[in-house]
Amino acid sequence: MKASDFVTQIRNGDIDVVEHTKKILEEVKKINKEYHYLTVISEKEAIEQAKSIAKNPAGKLAGLPVTLKDAICLKGIETTAGSRILQGYKPTFDATVAARIKKEGGIIIGKTSQDEFGFGAFSVNVGIGFEKPLNPFDKHRSTGGSSGGSGGISQKVHFPHISLGESTGGSIVNPASFCGVFGLCPTYGRVSRYGLLDYSNSLDKIGPMGKYAEDIALMMEVISGFDENESTCSDKPVDEYTKHVGADVSGMKVGIIKEGFAASNEEVTRHCRNAITALEGLGVECKEISVPTAIKYGIPTYYLLSTSEASTNLAKYCGMRYGKHEKLEGGFNDYFTKVRSKNLGQEAKRRIMLGTFARMAGYRDAYYMKAAAVRAKIIQEYKKAFKEFDALVCPTVSVLPPRFDEIDKFKVVDHYNMDNLTVGPNLAGIPHLNVPVGFEKELPVGLMIIGDHFDEKTLIGLGSALEGK
Ligand code: GLN
Repeated sequence: MKASDFVTQIRNGDIDVVEHTKKILEEVKKINKEYHYLTVISEKEAIEQAKSIAKNPAGKLAGLPVTLKDAICLKGIETTAGSRILQGYKPTFDATVAARIKKEGGIIIGKTSQDEFGFGAFSVNVGIGFEKPLNPFDKHRSTGGSSGGSGGISQKVHFPHISLGESTGGSIVNPASFCGVFGLCPTYGRVSRYGLLDYSNSLDKIGPMGKYAEDIALMMEVISGFDENESTCSDKPVDEYTKHVGADVSGMKVGIIKEGFAASNEEVTRHCRNAITALEGLGVECKEISVPTAIKYGIPTYYLLSTSEASTNLAKYCGMRYGKHEKLEGGFNDYFTKVRSKNLGQEAKRRIMLGTFARMAGYRDAYYMKAAAVRAKIIQEYKKAFKEFDALVCPTVSVLPPRFDEIDKFKVVDHYNMDNLTVGPNLAGIPHLNVPVGFEKELPVGLMIIGDHFDEKTLIGLGSALEGK
């Protein structure tokens, strides 16, 4: 059942919201034991919220179960971004997205597991002491990352539900693809990030993940729009995204990214080609296009910029203000070194070192500034493409979800290269949507549809046209 149909039933009093919430919490607890999708289940708060909705069943999300990536602050509920260094941190406020969901009657049932601070593409880089989420179609495989818990739970539960993920370089569409659900990474600045634990400020975006295109559209209407607490948040009016579900797409022009297909394996390519044929059947004009810079230079550009920003962002986690503390002794350097050595995972440490190095005096021009210049070139390349096309398409991830024993053999750069198709749109701050387009060996394949800045509505139109095809 789609979220909107469920909300209608709640509002009409056809479903007892308190009973329903209790029932689904039991289901979630059972799933979580096996699959590790949630770091916290906020049972008490969810039932309290359900009781208040029973009295006043109003709002666009009335009674709807929602989960949030752990990096999104939820008042009074432990929020750690999947890191041991933040264990015990309970925010005193709601992130703007959480507040808007609650205001529309959504019931937040828990926080989803993720790579520590978003550092990963397989959700295997969870913080020390956390369990990695398992793929809903095969427990020996990855959910993708870094919003792996959001992808997994969105696929696995049988009740209407929407999750919020976060993407810096692909962390919404990648796990959506590996878990066979829709996932929309919006335009940079479309959704407020107030209350998001930052990974990389010039790249981070919050966006919805769920089983239906319409669910994504509905959630976008709730979370998008101006926020006085967030200086990068746009005041551009918000579209009525749900009106674009099932819209007529004939006459639209879609560019097929040549390099994206060339970089993908045969099984993934085949399903994505079939989806393009389906679009053509609906009257969409599809033509090949080249976006060379994004795919050739996207990875080094992204990893220099994102780690530079991450290394400064993580400086605040020094055992003084939030989360884990140690016995205060020695100088400040000794103290924070002790706290970080003990509580940060290996990948977080690697990124702090990489980012600090890239920003160092003497190296700044060679690395950081050069990466910023390439980023500008990537943006220009996409902007040029959108003069001719309404949207661009390529596979979301170039391979099927790998098994954990395969991932164990990957080198660090193999992990980084997993994002070769997704870092481009993230660097450009343009919206991109994962659309499930088929199964290969019982594993899902995803097509990525990329749009121009603030053109989420076109992605929803095209994505919903492919739904169930
Ligand atoms: N996999 C990418 C990284 O490791 C993207 C992560 C993200 O979008 N948060 O940085």
